[in-house]
Amino acid sequence: MLGRHKKKNLCYNKLLSALSIPKLFWRKSIYLYPSGIILTAPKTLWSPQASRHVQKQQDKFIDEGYNMREFELLNHIYRSNNQLPDSVTIAPGDDMAAITINDSQVLTAVDQLIDQVHVNLKTTSLKKVGRKAVTRNLSDIAAMAAKPLAALATAALPRDFGQDRCDELFAAMRDTASSYDCPLIGGDMSIWDGPLHLTVTVLAIPDGIEPVRRSGGKVGDVICVTGKLGKSYPTGHHLDFQPRLKIARALANYPATRPHCMIDLSDGLARDLGHLCEMSNVSAVIDADKLPCRDHATWQQAVGDGEDYELLFAMDHAAIGSPGGWDALGVAITVIGKMVACENNTPAAILRLNDGSMIDLKDRGWEHH
Ligand SMILES: [Mg+2]
Repeated sequence: MLGRHKKKNLCYNKLLSALSIPKLFWRKSIYLYPSGIILTAPKTLWSPQASRHVQKQQDKFIDEGYNMREFELLNHIYRSNNQLPDSVTIAPGDDMAAITINDSQVLTAVDQLIDQVHVNLKTTSLKKVGRKAVTRNLSDIAAMAAKPLAALATAALPRDFGQDRCDELFAAMRDTASSYDCPLIGGDMSIWDGPLHLTVTVLAIPDGIEPVRRSGGKVGDVICVTGKLGKSYPTGHHLDFQPRLKIARALANYPATRPHCMIDLSDGLARDLGHLCEMSNVSAVIDADKLPCRDHATWQQAVGDGEDYELLFAMDHAAIGSPGGWDALGVAITVIGKMVACENNTPAAILRLNDGSMIDLKDRGWEHH
């Protein structure tokens, strides 16, 4: 019988050869879990000592009052990270960050996928899990109207995961990435006592189209959404969705249709529209009867369910004059409302019901955990 260490190496070697990636490019690290946010720890191998260290860090975060919601915690991290160099041209807080290297911009983002949080391995094939780990990152590239360049992946595999399943999972990640011209060029793997935990980092480039930010929305803009909303989990849409890469670039490439601000819908329309309003310092009014609901979803599901992975954007009112042109892009686009001036300097996202009553969408969004 093979020892644990030998088994792990066998798994590594087969994986690396399957990906045609030299072992040199794979490094080892561990991750901390403070309230659902993953922070990269100094490079170290998994060990009982590391496990105790993780627990201590979790306790510290909770003790110090950091047990807050995901968006609040991200904001806290952004605020404490104000020493960024000038080469960072899009700072944390957008769908991707950007750095400038020799006058060229490179965008990057990282996202994670955890068994029993974002997927259920008991009911979902590894092919779909591997696909989703990559496509949810590609959706962030679409949100910036950028062009995929490359991807890196990490995996913390359960101890009993097995080599065949490892192969199947990474083949799905590699094949999905390559089908979107975003080759998987490296990563890291470890084995632990927790659930399957994947992260994917993507790199992208503007390639002639200025990235679209969350912050450019203007009073009078129409608010649009691609595809349909709600019931992403029960319909399996969260596994099978197509990242809206092509339509994002098609819209952003022409001044008349270029979105002033854009985001992909991962946390649900209510929260993500709130992000656009906050970053653009405008308010939004959307109409319940205009929401393109998936599979008879209610308006509550359309605004509150997560993981639609559609694009939400605001553009000039004049841009909606040619719906025929939009049809040619192959994805339905629905106008759901408009941007309005803030009251009391406070951005708000408001839903107008059929009877004319108004609902503040604050806190109606979905949290990843
Ligand atoms: Mg996003």
